[in-house]
Amino acid sequence: MIDLLVVGGGPAGLATAVYGAKAGLEVVVVERRSGPIDKACGEGLMPHTLRHLERLGVHPHGRPFRGISYRDGNRHVEAPFRRGAGRGVRRTVLHGALLDAAAGAGVRIRHEEVGEISQDATSVRAGNWRARYLAAADGLHSPIRRSLGLERPSPGARRWGIRRHVQIAPWSDYVEVHWACGAEAYVTPIADDCVSVAVLKSRRGGFDTHLEEFPALRDRIGGRPHEPDRAAGPLRQRVSSRTAGRVLLVGDAAGYMDALTGEGLGLAFGAAELLVNSVVADQPGTYDRRWRQMTRRYRVLTAALLHASSHATVRPGIVPAAQAMPNVFGRAVNLLAQ
Ligand SMILES: Cc1cc2nc3c(=O)[nH]c(=O)nc-3n(C[C@H](O)[C@H](O)[C@H](O)COP(=O)(O)OP(=O)(O)OC[C@H]3O[C@@H](n4cnc5c(N)ncnc54)[C@H](O)[C@@H]3O)c2cc1C
Repeated sequence: MIDLLVVGGGPAGLATAVYGAKAGLEVVVVERRSGPIDKACGEGLMPHTLRHLERLGVHPHGRPFRGISYRDGNRHVEAPFRRGAGRGVRRTVLHGALLDAAAGAGVRIRHEEVGEISQDATSVRAGNWRARYLAAADGLHSPIRRSLGLERPSPGARRWGIRRHVQIAPWSDYVEVHWACGAEAYVTPIADDCVSVAVLKSRRGGFDTHLEEFPALRDRIGGRPHEPDRAAGPLRQRVSSRTAGRVLLVGDAAGYMDALTGEGLGLAFGAAELLVNSVVADQPGTYDRRWRQMTRRYRVLTAALLHASSHATVRPGIVPAAQAMPNVFGRAVNLLAQ
């Protein structure tokens, strides 16, 4: 029997595995796909996310950014980070660096699809594997979360994300958030000749359809060479608890609100560390409470912004309000960045 079986070898699963191996656990990751995996993601690593990666010994190459800029038509306002820079990192570069760290830490990775899982008082079984604990890091629509009955209905408007890599030299060292009526576009510098553009929206439609809502951005990137688009959603996933016996949820599987404040990866890495601490202490029941404590600030701020942005009358006032109160905007950005 191994100590910890991690199902899902995305960033959350690999970070859990590395934290686990560093804590002396025997860890196996089961991931159905092989190689560095790409996924719809804005690819902006906030300063707190980078600090986790440093602790994991992971130093992915990318382009630094020094804050967040909100834009709408001709208006814009910048909030620089007060403690260190963020970094735009291609998803496949991040995944490759995490795979290297996992291999270096002695984590075994197997490419299989996990089906049903079962557990008793001392262990969890999944396929041919038997482990003391199982970390479900199987993503936004986590099949394990569903099978354990941990999902809750997600009321409110559904939102989706779609990402395009555009071949163009970054023109800003901020992550630009362009606000339009029904969507936002997040522009993150990720290489000397490439920006990542993630559009978050509540209506269906392809990238080019939504780009029309951002004339200034369209004039800059429209028609430029790009890689195939990647989409994800619905984004909001509510969860009743992050533990069921010996199974603990981590990353997007543990619940997700929205990508509009860009802290998904940082929270996944923070949760990975908490999960491993609970497993090492043999106290899985403490994980859910600690997860809620660790994520509270982010959940409150993200929910408030999401709520404001979902009202047609309030939404157009978001950028003007941030511009009128740059200190408040700066404080909110830095609460999310640190
Ligand atoms: C449009 C968009 C923009 C975003 N922008 C940002 C951003 O700028 N900054 C940021 O920090 N976060 C951002 N996020 C959030 C971030 O991408 C996620 O929080 C992060 O990818 C979560 O990683 P994960 O490991 O939990 O899930 P995933 O990366 O989805 O990994 C789950 C893995 O589980 C595997 N799997 C699933 N089921 C099984 C099974 N049965 N057997 C074996 N393997 C299985 C899958 O193959 C997959 O590889 C964004 C998200 C979206 C959608």
